[in-house]
Amino acid sequence: MSAKDDLTNEEKLQALFTLQKIDSKIDEIRRLQGELPEEVKDLEDEIEGMNTRMKNLNAEIDDKKKQISDLGNKGVEAQELIAKYEKQQMNVKNNREYDALTKELENQTLELELSKKKAKDAERELASIEEYMEETKGKLDALKVNLELKKEELTTITAETAKEEQTLLKKSASASKKIEERLVTAYKRVRGNYKNGLAVVTFERNSCGGCYGKIPPQRQLEVRQRKKIIVCEHCGRILVDPEIETSRKELDA
Ligand SMILES: [Zn+2]
Repeated sequence: MSAKDDLTNEEKLQALFTLQKIDSKIDEIRRLQGELPEEVKDLEDEIEGMNTRMKNLNAEIDDKKKQISDLGNKGVEAQELIAKYEKQQMNVKNNREYDALTKELENQTLELELSKKKAKDAERELASIEEYMEETKGKLDALKVNLELKKEELTTITAETAKEEQTLLKKSASASKKIEERLVTAYKRVRGNYKNGLAVVTFERNSCGGCYGKIPPQRQLEVRQRKKIIVCEHCGRILVDPEIETSRKELDA
């Protein structure tokens, strides 16, 4: 039989605690890795949205410019008509003709004023769209810079952590081998049950380090004696003495 069957309960607890620390490190690496791709994806989505907004703003600006140019043409037309009617008025043959031209002149003067006013409004709108577009462009540029940084970070971290994760996974496997299967299975089951992946915990101020449930003094004493494998009655996690020594060589590279 292998050496693991000869382990004292204290050694088993130590081994379990070591395993937990290695596995928690793996969890942490995966968590960190897990967030970064999300952040990159979010930034890419945001940039895509902003690009669409920029495109729409550009179209709006083109529309406004076209509108302003049309209004300018209208104004010029009205001015030309006014000049023409004024000239004609000097050569009228009767009052009726004179009055008709006066009416036309009034119309064109109104037309001219109206196009001037509309052009002014459109200019103001154009300026405000352009200002907003500048603002959007500034934000977009900042997002693009941020995205590049995050992408670089992701590449570096992925390369670094892949190596670290491999090393830790080997350590975890070799640490598991030292513990009897029954315990490893129980450990894995409890670990899988909790989001924080904790199956082996110490206690602090009379509370379980996993669920913060109260641990009665008698139970604490038993845990401190390290003679039995004791689980928290609230959450089922294995409790270890906070003073228990973890074999550091398992953790350190
Ligand atoms: Zn608990």
